[in-house]
Amino acid sequence: MSVFSAPAFDGHELVTFCCDKRSGLRAIIAVHNSTLGPAVGGCRMFPYASDDDALHDVLRLSRGMTYKSALAGLPMGGGKSVIIGDPNSQKTRSLLLAMGDFVNAQNGRYVAAEDSGTGVADIRVMSERTDWVSGMDENEYGGDPSPSTALGVYLAIRAAISHRLGSTELRGITVAVQGLGHVGYYLARHLIADGATVYGADLNSANLNRAVNELGVIATEPGKILRLPVDVVAPCAMGAVWNRRSVEELRAGIVCGAANNQLASARDGALLQDRGVLYCPDFLVNAGGIIDVHHQRIGSSARVKRSHIGRIETTLSGVLQRADQLQRQPQLIAEELAEEYLAQGANAALLKAAC
Ligand code: NAD
Repeated sequence: MSVFSAPAFDGHELVTFCCDKRSGLRAIIAVHNSTLGPAVGGCRMFPYASDDDALHDVLRLSRGMTYKSALAGLPMGGGKSVIIGDPNSQKTRSLLLAMGDFVNAQNGRYVAAEDSGTGVADIRVMSERTDWVSGMDENEYGGDPSPSTALGVYLAIRAAISHRLGSTELRGITVAVQGLGHVGYYLARHLIADGATVYGADLNSANLNRAVNELGVIATEPGKILRLPVDVVAPCAMGAVWNRRSVEELRAGIVCGAANNQLASARDGALLQDRGVLYCPDFLVNAGGIIDVHHQRIGSSARVKRSHIGRIETTLSGVLQRADQLQRQPQLIAEELAEEYLAQGANAALLKAAC
């Protein structure tokens, strides 16, 4: 395994590894950039096939958090952590306490929140060993940021529909949602409440049945969901769903979903653009969760939080317009905007230090 020359390294400030023999914890914490503030990001637990896969994932996710927080106007840097293991069979209390110790040892450079494979209850266990955790407030959803992520994706879909079709009206619009877990379920609920027809697929039959029975989602086979002839495809399962083959098979004009790092490679963004598909940058679209975590940390009202999440719709509209004007990918425009905010943050810090 190489670290500094890993393909996704991209100048990370900190990458640190933990092996705790007693609990069996094997974990990595990555801090990509802390120009705008302490690095805040989820702690993912996944049975990675190799250490290299785990490193690649944490580096890509952590970099994504830098861009996500910068674009959302948050005083936070980008970081992420991964625990190597199966959350269904290997997640024990002693492992989570050891993870709490590992987070604590970073002295606040990294703040952990829930992610795929971990939940609010797990973060509470870690909090027995560290204050550097977030997203456990007793709000309507018990601290779970997923409903806020879903709200942001729903608003982003409105912006994308408006950009392409000239109206935010969702009645008559068809959407295919891949993954009906924490985010996909609430996204489908918003869309159906507004009159959209939602097709959904999930490998987990309990999650699929819940969305079908409670919301009226139309069940679809997982292998077909990304190539349905719908207006919008919303990937809300795992990353790297867009590659040469899936882009060729795509029949929707808009892609707008919650999954992180949806493009398997930068080349796939160009392929989507060449096919005339409006690809909404994932790190812009799915920022509702981290905005929620921020407002939990500073104790904001629900109204303030909702209004901040609402900015996702306007930011995306601006990015899509600029991309059209310049005939460039929205992904690249959004990355450049985030880099501008980072540079402004670095200048402001230099100025402060000089005064
Ligand atoms: P989740 O684990 O609750 O739900 C994901 C669902 O996708 C599960 O029900 C799973 O069975 C299903 N799934 C996995 N592979 C599938 C496939 N090939 N086809 C169909 N279904 C499949 O996760 P979540 O919290 O809803 O997050 C969804 C995505 O959004 C993830 O990529 C996550 O990183 C990203 N995201 C989540 C949040 C958040 O607040 N939860 C914030 C930002 C980004």
